[in-house]
Amino acid sequence: MAGGSAFGGGGSPMKHTADIRTVFLLALLSGAYVAAWWFPSPVWWIPCSILAVSACAAKHNHTHCATFRQRWANRCLELWLTVLTGTSSASIRVSHRVRHHGGNQSDEDFVRCSLVEGSQPLLALLCYVPAVVAESWRRGKGDLRHRRRLPLWRDCRFERIFLWGFILVSLWSDASGFLRVFIVPWIASQWFLIAMNLPQHDGCEASSRWGHSRNVTTRFANWLFLNNGFHTAHHEKPGLHWSLLPAYHRERVAPNLPAALDCGSLSNFWLTWWRERSA
Ligand SMILES: [Zn+2]
Repeated sequence: MAGGSAFGGGGSPMKHTADIRTVFLLALLSGAYVAAWWFPSPVWWIPCSILAVSACAAKHNHTHCATFRQRWANRCLELWLTVLTGTSSASIRVSHRVRHHGGNQSDEDFVRCSLVEGSQPLLALLCYVPAVVAESWRRGKGDLRHRRRLPLWRDCRFERIFLWGFILVSLWSDASGFLRVFIVPWIASQWFLIAMNLPQHDGCEASSRWGHSRNVTTRFANWLFLNNGFHTAHHEKPGLHWSLLPAYHRERVAPNLPAALDCGSLSNFWLTWWRERSA
């Protein structure tokens, strides 16, 4: 799963050559958006939404471990990710790295499962994403305007201006085309990635070193979503490049992971959570 050599060669602009897959998936999504624009059909919502989830996963990975060696290349990637996913790349950095990783499931964690405590699975799914969005709006401004994070706040502001420029120019050139192509994948992918936090952590022991997350370990889902399934390994080593998570999972996590938290496939991951929430 790690996919060959994980480290970029000396002359490579990437820190890890495995990120060729990241760029390939982002290029595929860009191509799908263009095709959806030129050949209108609701069928495009399926590949565009799935690949937009890959782009959200790439944004998450890049937040932890910069893709390129050069800052300008990383900034270009962040702007590309911003347009592909419809949200700023820099905006999630503090809330995710400090609030979620630093205080998983605490009151500081903006994606804590207790936001929908006691609800049945369907109601939890419906209420969770709006609750997370409200939490991030409530806390996001303060997080980014902290003096120490001024460069990050500037990056975030620039990305939002860039995104709004893209939206306005697209609306001006072909409003119905823009709405048809982008709105569904942008909303569906953000919803999916935020909602993933529920099956990842809900009902698990947040204070346990190895028992705080459910994992997806099958090849295809992890290929497509850039090893997002190896969540215990990711929390244990947040700075570890995504391509190295399967090996870390195999060597360190799997021998200690409670069997119920290795869900195998993505579908079983959701079903396991649904069953346990319903019980
Ligand atoms: Zn993370």
